[in-house]
Amino acid sequence: MCGIAAYATGRGVEVNRAVSEVISLLIELQHRGQEAVGLSVLNLDGSFSHIYTRGLATEVNNISPMGSDSGKAFGCLGHVRYSTTGGYWDSSTQPITVGEGGLRLSLVFNGTIANYRNLLPLAKGFDLGLLKKGMESDTYALALALYSITKELGGDVIEGLKELSRYIVGAYSLALLTSEPRLVLAKDPRGFRPLAYTYLGDTLYAASETAALDMLGLDSWKEVEPGAIISFDGGSLEISSSPVTAEPSPCIFEYVYFSRADSYFNGVSIYTARYRMGEALAKVAPAEADVVVSIPDSARVAALGYSAASGIPLAEGLVANKYVGRVFISPPKVRGQLSKLKYGIVKEAVFRRRVILVDDSIVRGTTMRSLISKLRNSGALAVHVRVSSPPFRCPCFMGIDIASREELIAWRATDIGAICKEIGADTLAYNTLKELISAIGLPSACHACFSCRYPFPGLDVERLERMFGGRCRQCL
Ligand code: AMP
Repeated sequence: MCGIAAYATGRGVEVNRAVSEVISLLIELQHRGQEAVGLSVLNLDGSFSHIYTRGLATEVNNISPMGSDSGKAFGCLGHVRYSTTGGYWDSSTQPITVGEGGLRLSLVFNGTIANYRNLLPLAKGFDLGLLKKGMESDTYALALALYSITKELGGDVIEGLKELSRYIVGAYSLALLTSEPRLVLAKDPRGFRPLAYTYLGDTLYAASETAALDMLGLDSWKEVEPGAIISFDGGSLEISSSPVTAEPSPCIFEYVYFSRADSYFNGVSIYTARYRMGEALAKVAPAEADVVVSIPDSARVAALGYSAASGIPLAEGLVANKYVGRVFISPPKVRGQLSKLKYGIVKEAVFRRRVILVDDSIVRGTTMRSLISKLRNSGALAVHVRVSSPPFRCPCFMGIDIASREELIAWRATDIGAICKEIGADTLAYNTLKELISAIGLPSACHACFSCRYPFPGLDVERLERMFGGRCRQCL
């Protein structure tokens, strides 16, 4: 999972201003990736300059990487990266810039191209041997194939994107700058990942989530429609579509966990969807208890809905230590230990109380196991776990970093009772897929992580695993 941002203006702008606009957007998208930041600036002379750094978007302000700020730019792209393991940093940092002479393009994308190996043969004229030396990634495959196809089509990147979309199995929400100059935004035909933009006549801003645009006061945003290709030449905006038609399949996990509560995705407020998930959960899975406690931060809104619908008061029973880092993506050896350090228990809130513990998802079960034992040690009389999404049963090949099936507690366990035992809860209940879908209120969505049904005809988990090379390499 990653966050992308873009800014371009037909007026031309100081390089540092372009960088600073994109950094502001990236700071607001930091929850989508905290491992590395990348930027590319398209200078008015058609050249690209880059910044790559590990860590948070705020770090970029300190490294003043563009050198002279005297030059002017057409625009800037930015990317915050989320990965499950280290080691891929060099090979997969975005933006990726390809081409020389007449046509050059720089690209950032959020998603995963499951069949990226099939795109490599489309990348004619590149030394693909290089890719084997550590540059193999779906981002490179996407950028190289797009560049080659575009060149073959006489340099028209819009036609290139349309053609490329015929070959792709996977998810992409992307922004690219071409040396023409042009800023292009595009979404795959199923619209798995969010992407929104604000058009101000001679200026275009884009960000993975609407909340980032709101934070900059750019609240007249629109969302990029599934399959849409938006081209901005510094003045006018042209919108065209991929020739591939498919039922929209926005990622249901964006609503459950990934997106910010103050964002909208497909016109649906993430906050409202999560609140309704909590309400539904209270109706289908009530429990006799004294307090509702959420696992911060992503389960807060669902817990609010659960508390309102059940009449059981909400208590701030947990304190998250933000400095422990991402337990979810840490190596298995240290994950257990880190999960113990991640949450503190507010004894006053749970001592001698029956607790309903609300989370948005149980993936491997690491978080729950550790929390339940801590709650009991702090004097909780009972721990009833309520999860606002269904059991997470299958890996994602469309941009969420869920590794192998074997790691998923709901894949291994025979039934919910077995999961309950494994995590040590008194009772455990989940929302059903039907409740989840109706809480979101969209006619269709990708829910493969819960249903194991992928929105590509004829592709099941085994075939996708083989196609992708055995394990999910997440957002790359
Ligand atoms: P686990 O501890 O493996 O069961 O993971 C579940 C916890 O991690 C929940 O508290 C979720 O909020 C959070 N979570 C779920 N999916 C992800 C993800 N892809 N990246 C980071 N955290 C996640």
